[in-house]
Amino acid sequence: MDKHGIKYKSVKGKTYSLYGETHEISGYYRLIKGITDLFLKKCPDEKKLLAQIQNAGSNRSFIKKLSRKYVDKPLVSFIKKTLSENLSLYTTGVKRHLQTLPLSQRFDPVIRTKEAQYHLYMTEIELINRIYKHVFTSSKYKFALIAHCLRDFRPDCRAVAGDIESICRGCTKECFVNLGSLLLKKYDIHPHISVSMELEKLFKKIKAGHHSVGALGIACVPELAQGMRLCIKLGIPPVGIPLDANRCSRWMKQCRESSFNLEELEELIKDQ
Ligand code: SF4
Repeated sequence: MDKHGIKYKSVKGKTYSLYGETHEISGYYRLIKGITDLFLKKCPDEKKLLAQIQNAGSNRSFIKKLSRKYVDKPLVSFIKKTLSENLSLYTTGVKRHLQTLPLSQRFDPVIRTKEAQYHLYMTEIELINRIYKHVFTSSKYKFALIAHCLRDFRPDCRAVAGDIESICRGCTKECFVNLGSLLLKKYDIHPHISVSMELEKLFKKIKAGHHSVGALGIACVPELAQGMRLCIKLGIPPVGIPLDANRCSRWMKQCRESSFNLEELEELIKDQ
């Protein structure tokens, strides 16, 4: 049981699980922090490292040449090798998922994410958190989008429509949306349940209403990384916590209970 009184269960996702083959998640967070420290020793400029990690996931060398982005090949191959050697135990379902992907889902950029890209996204999330944590916590208006799948399996969910997205009414003590919302409110972060597929429109609307705004996401690894990129593009400092595993109906035939780590969330949002 953690300090929030939660007894976590190891969960297995369609493609990934931050528990790996274990019953505790701290191993994953220790590892991703250690790996990021290692990369920062090789490339101490956090933003330059982020650009290399983002470029490493793109196969579009022609586009890269066109955009004249500098690719540090020795660094990128070191990053890819290190990630593959260390993070593969968390992404054991990717290969089979991609082999059995129906034609209708092959064009979905989230669903067709390759294993190496998961590893890059995991590192990208950790690095973006380090880069933007301070500016996020100092933002005057802070909002959070919590993945709707954390409540979807509850037929009697009493969430109501809010000004930008649905709001949890706290009907069930154990619901991770409720647990997250309570913690976020303690730190003056406005929690919402993420339902909209039009994130860009939503972010632009929020930014238009506030001079100083920061975003926090709680979502599966590929969706979170892509959402954070979108925030950066729109000038909104993002931070985020990945779901422990991807188990919603988009990935599985039916939505299964999932979780995220509240201790990591609190570490991320508290001022230091
Ligand atoms: S606690 Fe909130 S998100 Fe969870 S089922 Fe109740 S209203 Fe829905």
